[in-house]
Amino acid sequence: MNWHDETQDQLLTIEQARQQTEKQLQVSEERYRLLAENASDVIWTMSLDGRITYISPSVERLRGFTQEEAMQQTLEEIQTPESQAITLAYFSRMAGRLQAGLPPEYARYEQEYRCKDGSTIWCDVHVLPVHTADGATVEILGVSRDITAVKRAESEAKRSEERLRKMLQHLPVAVAVANLQADQRILYRNTAFDQIFGWTPQEIPTHEAWFVRAYPEEDYRRTVLNKWNVAIAQAAAQQGHVTPHEFRVTSRNGQVKDIVIGGTILDDQLICSFVDISERKRFVAELVQARDAAETANRALQQANAELQRLAVTDRLTGVWNRAYFEEAVAAERTHAVRYDMPLSLLMLDLDHFKVINDTYGHLVGDRILIELTRLIGQHLRTVDILVRWGGEEFALLMPHCGATEALHAADRLRVIIANHSFPEVGAVTVSVGVAEFQPQESVHAWIKRADDALYQAKSGGRNRVCRCDPEN
Ligand code: GH3
Ligand code: MG
Ligand code: MG
Repeated sequence: MNWHDETQDQLLTIEQARQQTEKQLQVSEERYRLLAENASDVIWTMSLDGRITYISPSVERLRGFTQEEAMQQTLEEIQTPESQAITLAYFSRMAGRLQAGLPPEYARYEQEYRCKDGSTIWCDVHVLPVHTADGATVEILGVSRDITAVKRAESEAKRSEERLRKMLQHLPVAVAVANLQADQRILYRNTAFDQIFGWTPQEIPTHEAWFVRAYPEEDYRRTVLNKWNVAIAQAAAQQGHVTPHEFRVTSRNGQVKDIVIGGTILDDQLICSFVDISERKRFVAELVQARDAAETANRALQQANAELQRLAVTDRLTGVWNRAYFEEAVAAERTHAVRYDMPLSLLMLDLDHFKVINDTYGHLVGDRILIELTRLIGQHLRTVDILVRWGGEEFALLMPHCGATEALHAADRLRVIIANHSFPEVGAVTVSVGVAEFQPQESVHAWIKRADDALYQAKSGGRNRVCRCDPEN
């Protein structure tokens, strides 16, 4: 092979290498073109004097302008004035750096772009300089990603948080939010919280500080903490709901208040509500006290009334019924006897020679005999019988469901019991008894008169006896 052939071969090799490099370059360019054309972000390049030199077709999806339209746009047509100012500031910084022989900086901004329909979108923009192999900066490469939805969600979240804060701030219920993790800081407290408790944020920066201030007494604080920790532990099983508990909370001015504290756990935060029920409790306690006092007074009144009623119808000395009661009872018994055709008898009973006893032993002994006598008779009565002190040493006994014969036997039985009884200090005492059975056609007055007549008979017949007076036909 001669030199010519050799040179020919070398040229061929160089040509092959060049073709291969070109091919590789084409592949590489194609790769980048495909990347740029198909990316969902907008990829663009800009000359150092601010003209768009390339923009990916995705610009149409983002801003509505076609690739060709976007290429023709000036900075004012692309961005809002505020974003434009950011871009211009970047360019002027870049010029300064280039003059100083420094490479332009990489930058990242949030910028607002104009769309074809007049609206705007927000983009997260990465900007980086493009260098040649010898290090000279030739243009700017940018990637813009649509973050409008994110920004909108962020501002929506901010607004709704703001709304919530405003609502909480003026709620009549005290609200505080604390961090449950690490530092346990109290992150928020509303106006009602400050008004009820009075502590400044510096005085209760954390959950722990709150417990120390609100429950200064150590034993009570421990009790509260135990209860509260249990409630917090149970919250997980109750969709974060912390069951409300009532505590006695000390406020800044030393006043102890009855507070119902409940809450909700959201992520790592505890949102607490505090309802002051001191007033309500005081009111209820006063109400209970007033009700008790009224009940006591009412009971006393009822007792006094009952006692008055009893006194009005009973005999002071012996405790048996008096004449006033007899009037009521005799009317009722008479009606009953007539309606049911039942017998009804009246006994008139008088102590014999009581005047002598009084004269011999004195009036007080006489009184005791009257008491003893009624007690003794009382022991031998049926529950339906009505014993009345008629006056002095004379008694009436109303015996329902009892005819003259039966009444006569009852009277005599009583007479014997009395005659056989030994009365203290005096010994034996006797009585005379008159018996009359009620006749439906006669008046009470006439009936009593018959019983009186029978008594008179017993007296005049020698006393210590029972006589009966039947109606004259
Ligand atoms: P007779 O057998 O006829 O009934 O004779 P008497 O002495 O029992 O009857 P008299 O009517 O003569 O006297 C009744 C006496 O009863 C007169 C009075 O001093 C007495 N007497 C009336 N009420 C009381 C009273 O509440 N206490 C006492 N100790 N005596 C009384
Ligand atoms: Mg008498
Ligand atoms: Mg008498």
